[in-house]
Amino acid sequence: MLKSKTFVRKTRSGGVMKIVREHYLRDDIWCGSEVCAECKQESTVLQRDACIESNLCSYPHYVIPDTNVVLHQIDVLEDPVIRNVIILQTVLQEVRHRSAPVYKRLKDMIHEKEKFFYAFTNEHHRETFIEREPGESANDRNDRAIRVAAQWYSQHLKTSESDADGLKVVLLTNDQGNKQKAEESGLLVYADIIVHRLLAVAIAADSTYPDLMDKQKQSALANNLNYRHKMSQYAQRASVAFHTQLFFKSRGILNEEGFVLFVRKNAIIVLIPKFGLEGTVFFDAKDKAGPKLVFDEEGPTLNVEQHTFRIFDKVKVTISLDASNIQHQKIRMSLIDPVIPGVSVPAPEVEPQAKKPKLDH
Ligand SMILES: [Zn+2]
Repeated sequence: MLKSKTFVRKTRSGGVMKIVREHYLRDDIWCGSEVCAECKQESTVLQRDACIESNLCSYPHYVIPDTNVVLHQIDVLEDPVIRNVIILQTVLQEVRHRSAPVYKRLKDMIHEKEKFFYAFTNEHHRETFIEREPGESANDRNDRAIRVAAQWYSQHLKTSESDADGLKVVLLTNDQGNKQKAEESGLLVYADIIVHRLLAVAIAADSTYPDLMDKQKQSALANNLNYRHKMSQYAQRASVAFHTQLFFKSRGILNEEGFVLFVRKNAIIVLIPKFGLEGTVFFDAKDKAGPKLVFDEEGPTLNVEQHTFRIFDKVKVTISLDASNIQHQKIRMSLIDPVIPGVSVPAPEVEPQAKKPKLDH
């Protein structure tokens, strides 16, 4: 099966080049596991008895590290005790782009027989290749590809081995979003800090208390860590919003140039490059009859009375802090230019800022 990818790339001279890349998907890529009776493989890499010589995991398992785990914990992966690891092509490619030395160490491990590291070409496998979705970043797409491949392994090995406590596939990730999405699709996932600690214990580089080896307690601990991490992210975002509001509160109404980023049915989203601030200018008023709005999805354009807004149009807006609801202070933007009668507001009179006194030495 052949898929072709088309994308445009900017050349050094400033031109634009169209690149068509052929992508072959195959159904003769094998899982590499000794337990599999389905794949028509002549030799295997991953062992049937895949237990780390420690009391970490009671069941045999294969580990699939994501790109960041490889980049940051390559030392641990290199320890002789870590074996039976599946290295996905997606991970290999990302590592190659991000660190040549780590890439070399990873390749060396794959070639080392005693490590039982298996490189799985998931990007060419008919069932694990995924297309990037519209609006999906390359990073998110790769994270998804890793989850899809891990899930495929999990399913694939389940059908091959009938006994209940058969082989398990564990995805190692330190990415919160990736972990959550993987768990939603029923994968075994370990959170970062614990992963590091456990790997260190596994290679006897660290010791730990018996509680940490308890699966239930481990899971509760991981959930707690993830919860706190999430809360600190919320706090971080709220703090950015708070300081943005403080900034505009002290400045009063401003008159700034900006560009239309998006047009919506009843609003335009404006970027003010000077502040790196995005805001929305709404055209429909809650209490009174608003202006005549015509939205054209094709453009996209938005007609407000006689004026047509397009993406990248230059506009002038006022920025102010709406503190009418003390619980929900908001940055407000109103249109100054273009002048649309009944819609735009007059430009505020700005007092010229006093020049900073020059420092004489
Ligand atoms: Zn197989």
